[in-house]
Amino acid sequence: MILKEEREQVVEYGRKLIELGLTVGTFGNLSVYNPKEKLMAISPSGMDYMQTKPEDVVVLTPDGEKVDGDRKPSSEYDMHRIFYQKRPGVNAVIHTHSTWATTLACLHWSIPAIHYVIAYAGADVPCIPYVQFGTYQLAQAAFDAMGDDHYACLLGNHGLLAAGSTLPYTLDVAQQIEFVAQLYYNARVAGGGVMLSDKDMEHVLGSFATYRQK
Ligand code: 13P
Ligand code: ZN
Repeated sequence: MILKEEREQVVEYGRKLIELGLTVGTFGNLSVYNPKEKLMAISPSGMDYMQTKPEDVVVLTPDGEKVDGDRKPSSEYDMHRIFYQKRPGVNAVIHTHSTWATTLACLHWSIPAIHYVIAYAGADVPCIPYVQFGTYQLAQAAFDAMGDDHYACLLGNHGLLAAGSTLPYTLDVAQQIEFVAQLYYNARVAGGGVMLSDKDMEHVLGSFATYRQK
């Protein structure tokens, strides 16, 4: 089986999305890219994460051509492959419909620096306007909003997109941004919240470069 390890990772991390309550039902999707092989492994469209097996995971080129797998790839494959095509260093993408991030996406609220762990995604998390799911236009709008220094964005009236160098790290981005989305909603409902300054965030982003184990 080609890309066996990556396919197994997609299965393992898809289950984690459900176990951590980061998505609902068959929605959301995830992929991992092997830059040496120049191939990506992506979750199948509309399949129960708990029933998905490595052979259900679809292998595509970054141009979107199917190389292996009998299933239909995620309808959002453009939103994954655009990063592998155009943003070196991004080797994993996770899309969720997590409750708090999606709440803010329905309000069209971008997330400012309300808590320092937003640094998983950058100094803030932008929100893009609504675009129909499964379209290249949605992929392009998310890609543009994330530029080269953001690792997450909110998809208007839809959900969250997270990117990173590895799948475990990208899951952390999705989980931490869900946490920050809940804090931001709570703070605004309570009347405000005190934001961190650009300087504070510069320091945090600097410290994040050496945070965690090697
Ligand atoms: P897929 O099941 O096709 O991956 O789509 C789910 C989704 O969240 C679409 O935005
Ligand atoms: Zn979705």
